[in-house]
Amino acid sequence: AAKQQGGNAYRFYSSDLNERSLQFLGLQSDLHKALERREFRLFYQPKIDTRTRRIVGAEALIRWEHAERGFVGPDEFIPMAEETGLIEPIGAWVLEEACRNIRAWQASGLAIPRISVNVSSRQFGAPGFYEAVHRIIADSGVEPSHITFEVTESVLMENAAESTALLNRFKAMGLHLSMDDFGTGYSSLSYLRRFPLDELKIDKSFLAEIDADHAPADPGKGTLIGGIIALGHSLGLTIVAEGVETERQHAFLQQHRCDQCQGYLFSRPLPAAAFQRLLEC
Ligand code: C2E
Ligand code: MG
Ligand code: MG
Ligand code: MG
Repeated sequence: AAKQQGGNAYRFYSSDLNERSLQFLGLQSDLHKALERREFRLFYQPKIDTRTRRIVGAEALIRWEHAERGFVGPDEFIPMAEETGLIEPIGAWVLEEACRNIRAWQASGLAIPRISVNVSSRQFGAPGFYEAVHRIIADSGVEPSHITFEVTESVLMENAAESTALLNRFKAMGLHLSMDDFGTGYSSLSYLRRFPLDELKIDKSFLAEIDADHAPADPGKGTLIGGIIALGHSLGLTIVAEGVETERQHAFLQQHRCDQCQGYLFSRPLPAAAFQRLLEC
């Protein structure tokens, strides 16, 4: 990677560790300029109805189109954005861009499924977050019910009482609320009931239980997923499986009445224009 960095001094470091930490530093200073350079892109990955395979929603996923490095995934820069506080302006841009896209699609006469936006812990805990969200959505003219916020268990558990209060305010605004990556953190039944959630997304790591080598009927295979779906339904939640890659996984999820699926089997995350073409079909 160093050879692509051309004239800067970083290339003289040979050890992997140094190279990686210096790349990190390089990215960090670039990240400060990425917003004004308009290098962020919002992609959309369809969420489909498990039975009908119709598009019933989409998740907005940020990418960074770096001038030299090409597309950088969120796992590489969101943690950095959280540490530096840049997540606040970046998060605002994500919500604004999603609202702009929704308005544009509506203006071209399309029926728009609900759009999910990820909210990370530093965003959620930042002072003024509610007010910023309210202003962005009100200014955009988008119905709040067109938007779902995805938050992770850890975000909510860190400060359960305050989180519940904030979620209730968003709920009152009309937003839908989803718990992302369910099963990867510390989850407790009583908390699940306490948060005003609409949706539970089963983390993709659970999907590995149902791979091509194991028939869905294999004893023990997929029992966790089956349990989560039943539990979620008993709480009145819509259950979404993320990371669905195989027909076998889809068949298993259908058999266990999982409401929605999201994954490469149906579509990769798409640029806004490509997602719009999908809606036009
Ligand atoms: P997430 O919210 O759990 O998003 C799902 C991730 O799974 C996405 O990765 C998506 O591209 C990927 N994925 C979808 N289908 C499949 C599949 O069939 N197989 C596999 N292996 N992966 C699949 P991505 O886009 O790299 O995003 C990673 C994480 O970055 C997200 O996890 C989310 O936590 C965070 N993120 C993404 N966009 C934003 C954003 O706008 N704001 C914030 N705060 N975080 C974001
Ligand atoms: Mg998500
Ligand atoms: Mg997830
Ligand atoms: Mg995640």
